[in-house]
Amino acid sequence: MKTIILGRSGLPVKPLGIGTEHMNRLSIKELDHLLRYCVERGFDYFDLVTASKTYRPRYGKVLPAVRSRVKIAGHLSDRTRDVANSEILFHQILKDLQVEYLDVLFIQWVDQVEDYQRLVSNGLLDLLAKLRQQGKFGALGISGHKTEVAIPAAESGLFDIIMHPINMASSAIATPMRRGFTGEDDRSRLLSLCRQHDIGLIAMKPFMGGKLLKPGQPYSATPVQCLHYTLSQIGVSMALAGVSSPQQVDALAAYEASTTAERDFSAILQAQNLLDGMRGECVYCNHCLPCPSEIDIALINQMHDEAVQFGISPALHQRYGSATPSAQDCIACGDCEAACPFGVSVIDRMQETIALFA
Ligand code: SF4
Ligand code: SF4
Repeated sequence: MKTIILGRSGLPVKPLGIGTEHMNRLSIKELDHLLRYCVERGFDYFDLVTASKTYRPRYGKVLPAVRSRVKIAGHLSDRTRDVANSEILFHQILKDLQVEYLDVLFIQWVDQVEDYQRLVSNGLLDLLAKLRQQGKFGALGISGHKTEVAIPAAESGLFDIIMHPINMASSAIATPMRRGFTGEDDRSRLLSLCRQHDIGLIAMKPFMGGKLLKPGQPYSATPVQCLHYTLSQIGVSMALAGVSSPQQVDALAAYEASTTAERDFSAILQAQNLLDGMRGECVYCNHCLPCPSEIDIALINQMHDEAVQFGISPALHQRYGSATPSAQDCIACGDCEAACPFGVSVIDRMQETIALFA
């Protein structure tokens, strides 16, 4: 798995992170084995949902064996947001986990606007700034499920990382780069803000709590399709998936070597009857491949959309420069347009892309 940089946190991590909440049912021996197995398979980011008192000390027993090889994220779960209680809890988290430093600290479960307003104004952030200055944690994040909170958090400049659910079922229609973007589409707005402000967006629930993996439904998808959809959304840095067995770790690891056909999620979006809303918009599924010039059409379209929306940053320019074959290799054969279920004018887009990056 290639390493990415988690937005302005600067943390180098793999784009697939491991959620640990389902591991709590394992014995300590199994837990130890599973964490080591994750590391062996190349995973290097563990999200430690430290809400439960029984949960933390169990990880304290097994984390030291892998700590030097992974980044860890802890969660400040005190919903009162009381400053004194939060300070006690923070130190307890470090003690229970037997670590001296968290790579990321999330303020957890912020789903109410009132809660968000309270925590940004009651001195909690001053406490966290102090703890950060003392070298107790690296990046500050906020986690929740509501765009009403995540959007002001992204706009505030206070957070390096936002954790938010992004999956095919969560407003699949809301591709981030819809033309004529009006600001009404909240998920698009959140993703755009994360890209604009270089916030690391960690997408949780890529399988929608396993519902998307249920067989026999029109929306049934494979883990690879779910992960690819989530990671294809512009603005998403990492997909975080919970595992509780080596087999589930293998299913995540399979993403890296998966083929374009295995990643293609277009049929699931079609099954959701969202075609009309997506007409003309690229959803980056690569259903249009193969291209005789071997262009990664979804990748070029992503860079096109990013350039249109945000302009061309040096990083984007560099990514475009290293994409080969590229838009200029398009021979306008039209094969992709015939195959695209979403009616994207790929040939025009290739020309636009050439002009944009010229
Ligand atoms: S052009 Fe169509 S088929 Fe190709 S990646 Fe975009 S949406 Fe998918
Ligand atoms: S039109 Fe261009 S991008 Fe599409 S398949 Fe043909 S060469 Fe590839």
